[in-house]
Amino acid sequence: QAKSAGKNTFAFFDPAVQSALLQRHRLEVDLREAIHTHQLVPFYQGQVDANGRLVSTELLIRWQHPSRGLLLPGEFIQIAEASGLIADLGNEVMRLAARQLSLWAKNKRTRDLSISVNISARHFEKPDFVEKVAAVLAEYPLRPAALKLEITESALAANLQTICARMTALLELGVSLSLDDFGTGYSSLAYLKRLPIGQVKIDQDFVRDLLIDDNDRGITEAIIALARTLKMDVVAEGVETAAQRDLLQELGCPVFQGYFFDRPAPLADFSQRYQLI
Ligand code: C2E
Ligand code: MG
Ligand code: MG
Ligand code: MG
Repeated sequence: QAKSAGKNTFAFFDPAVQSALLQRHRLEVDLREAIHTHQLVPFYQGQVDANGRLVSTELLIRWQHPSRGLLLPGEFIQIAEASGLIADLGNEVMRLAARQLSLWAKNKRTRDLSISVNISARHFEKPDFVEKVAAVLAEYPLRPAALKLEITESALAANLQTICARMTALLELGVSLSLDDFGTGYSSLAYLKRLPIGQVKIDQDFVRDLLIDDNDRGITEAIIALARTLKMDVVAEGVETAAQRDLLQELGCPVFQGYFFDRPAPLADFSQRYQLI
């Protein structure tokens, strides 16, 4: 009898597990194609100052899947990382940003904007990463500083010298660097002190309960003070209410990003929201 074959064997043929694996595999096959067939769609979210003026933007990628509809990063970035597609995907995202920046550069209203793109640690660590960034810059006419690479602390896991050399090479190309989700990973302050990073982003984890949790407030104050000491810019993420914005401003944070201002949206909606056209 098949059922008496033992629990492990039975679990291996669990139809739910098998179908999940199959789905994942299909998504990986689809993603390989999606990257080169314009199925990746850039969404933009504003970063605004205390007056609500747009100062910068973050590109948050979506995947317009032919049968599954619009997919969020949470549904495919991990698959891209695990399957080795993340470098191709990331390079394509940088190209999308660079292309947009070169278009924005022609217009008085938009020429001072920058675009932040999210770079996976797996991608950042590749030996040819700096070359790829240089290739993207060579492809489009833009101010390199307008392209901001957001990396998370997980990209700082390698040894300090390697990371420092890579970041210095990127700065020599003229691009900007930002540390995303700051405070949620394991990077030490010694790393932060030594690395040429121009901006830190306060994670939405700390912003969420800012008004009711003294610990979150304390951490947020500390990050803002640290950024000031190290002469780094600071942006708060996940700002959903006026009260959060007001308190952040009071604590010395000059730039905000979150649903209170706008939700990530396709270029047309974003442009309309901020009257860029
Ligand atoms: P992230 O870079 O920390 O981006 C912030 C996430 O919070 C985004 O989710 C954004 O839509 C969402 N968000 C913005 N404002 C608010 C708010 O007020 N409240 C709440 N609750 N959420 C807010 P999204 O777009 O689903 O992206 C999730 C993550 O996926 C990003 O986190 C980033 O780590 C990653 N990601 C996005 N685009 C790319 C990409 O092109 N490449 C790579 N490697 N990763 C990406
Ligand atoms: Mg980000
Ligand atoms: Mg973040
Ligand atoms: Mg995040």
